[in-house]
Amino acid sequence: MPDLPFACRCGRLRGHLSDMDPSAYTHIVCHCDDCRAAYTHLGMADPEKVGIVQTSQDQVHIDEGGENLRVFRHTAKGALRWYATCCDTPLFYTPLKARLVHVGVNADRVDGDLGPVRAEGFVPTGSGHRHKGALRMVGRMATRMAAKNLNGQWRETPFFDDEGAPAVPPQVLTREQRAAALMGVRQS
Ligand SMILES: [Zn+2]
Ligand SMILES: [Zn+2]
Repeated sequence: MPDLPFACRCGRLRGHLSDMDPSAYTHIVCHCDDCRAAYTHLGMADPEKVGIVQTSQDQVHIDEGGENLRVFRHTAKGALRWYATCCDTPLFYTPLKARLVHVGVNADRVDGDLGPVRAEGFVPTGSGHRHKGALRMVGRMATRMAAKNLNGQWRETPFFDDEGAPAVPPQVLTREQRAAALMGVRQS
């Protein structure tokens, strides 16, 4: 099964996603403010939508430059937004609990053919937003989580230690930082 390499923009932090056969991941696009504000918070342009490879954490392997991995949360309840501090590149998001297994890998940092987009989240409409293909996305996520919880594979993760605490202490954005990040997200 193929491995897909990933790297931050400067290349100091690099690694690979292992065993990426099509059943092991879901290629989605998310339009939500939080995914986009992860870029603007780090000083990058608003991508307007973010391609994401949804897979499980045991398939993420950091091969070099792991000391550059940092993490922030948009709010005290927000998901963990992992990035490379060497060049401020957003790389991953995970839930707060290792047992949930799930990880989203920013597709713009992955080298390889990810195939078609299977679902889209928070697609803007005139009056709000809608999701396309979300049921399938959530279903696949749940299947991966159940299997890896049963066989203990959830423990194999670069993001959490053996006690289930984040590998690096998360920084929660201040209200000002959060506002500035959202300001950079173009409202559609
Ligand atoms: Zn870098
Ligand atoms: Zn999103």
